[in-house]
Amino acid sequence: MTKKAAAYVYTGPDDWHGFVGQVLASLGYVYDREGKDAAVRLASRKKGLILDGYFTDSNGQARNFGPYVVTTKKEVKNYLLEACRTLTKRPPSPWGKLTGVRPLKLVHTLFDEGLSPEGVRHRLGKEFDVADRTADLLVQVAVTQRPYVVQHETRDAALYVGIPYCASHCLYCSFPSRLVGNEKAERLLDFTNKLIEDIQDVQRLCSDTGIRIDSIYVGGGTPTSLSVEAVERIMSALQPLAGACREWTVEAGRPDTMTEEKARILRAYGVDRISINPQTMQQHLLDALGRRHTVRDIYRMFDYCRDAGFSVINTDFIAGLPGQTVEDMRQNLEAVCQLAPENVTIHTLALKKGAPLFRHTLREEIPPVQVVEEMVTSAEESLCRQGYAPYYLYRQQYMAAEFANIGYAKDGTISRYNIEMMEERQTVLGVGPGSATKFIVPHRKMEKMYMPKDIGQYTEALTERMKRRRLLCASVYEGVN
Ligand code: SF4
Repeated sequence: MTKKAAAYVYTGPDDWHGFVGQVLASLGYVYDREGKDAAVRLASRKKGLILDGYFTDSNGQARNFGPYVVTTKKEVKNYLLEACRTLTKRPPSPWGKLTGVRPLKLVHTLFDEGLSPEGVRHRLGKEFDVADRTADLLVQVAVTQRPYVVQHETRDAALYVGIPYCASHCLYCSFPSRLVGNEKAERLLDFTNKLIEDIQDVQRLCSDTGIRIDSIYVGGGTPTSLSVEAVERIMSALQPLAGACREWTVEAGRPDTMTEEKARILRAYGVDRISINPQTMQQHLLDALGRRHTVRDIYRMFDYCRDAGFSVINTDFIAGLPGQTVEDMRQNLEAVCQLAPENVTIHTLALKKGAPLFRHTLREEIPPVQVVEEMVTSAEESLCRQGYAPYYLYRQQYMAAEFANIGYAKDGTISRYNIEMMEERQTVLGVGPGSATKFIVPHRKMEKMYMPKDIGQYTEALTERMKRRRLLCASVYEGVN
């Protein structure tokens, strides 16, 4: 029998919906297969809002809460967490009141206040109900990150390049990429030309304003799914920006998009970090996910990328894929031992509405939370034994309460871009569809702008967006030395 997806109903102001959804996701009321549901209502009053609703408990009984008078999001969150805990008797989340996708931001703020690691641990437990083990992890990661996030020259920036093309669509992925094989040659050429125009505009912006790019990240999609010529033209356009760059990553993702020739081209232009992301190392799972490559292809790709001379290879795995077992994850970690990538990222499957898996029968094969927890714990233990340490983490909006995506690195190989992206203390300039530009100047408001996600809309809007980026940059740096 098909299990009902957990869900919630929200009624209230639109601008509070995302926040309420995030809190309910952290409590397991969004797509977590246990069939729970909940309702939250925020009704406007002259002063503030009235919060009420219900949570279903483990017996399927609706348990009402409220009405409470609330004026801030913090109050809404605290009432919802407390009501859910007392009415449903669910064990508390190890993340306590940290329901957002960037839990380390708070930890860095506590360090900024001058607290010691022990002091931060104490505050996380006492004030934010974070479990001891989670607080230890957060403090460990934050301490590793401190040298990279504390002080920034205001004119240092990271550059993100978005290339939303893939070779095939993976079952679990909600990213709106287009398939290179379905695209007409003129359209691919038009996209490449526009992306280069966008990169060249950033280059002019940097030389006019003194912004210095210290890391570049070319992501997607899978950028290497473009042709050799297109990859080379894009790298050539990026090279003038890489003068002061301390890290240049390209997501080479899947072996079916990569060749020895592309590896040589990336290295020739200065790319020193790539991602090879098998997600799992069992052929039957790769086939079920719609990835058109073999396990052997992954080993081969590692060999020629090592020969090409990349100094850091990152490898992503996902825990909780449909049909995946704890033994499968153990095999993945054995492969890590053989391949020895410098970085490993362990993701936990977050079922998203936009992913084909959301409506697929294989959704029923997603392992239960307890099994995923065992996979994540065994991966963590194995990585630590192999000399990796966690250096960045984030949570996803629809992630089950217990989990986080965690990046591990061998000594001296952390990715500064990953840290900066998550902690939002450095300006990021974005080029390509769906990219975000975030100007960050200490003690001032963060200013953001986005490129359209759709490739057609991006190419149409590019001239206007480049103008907007220039104006935003001028307004942010006005009076800043
Ligand atoms: S997981 Fe990566 S390769 Fe697969 S569809 Fe999503 S972006 Fe493309």
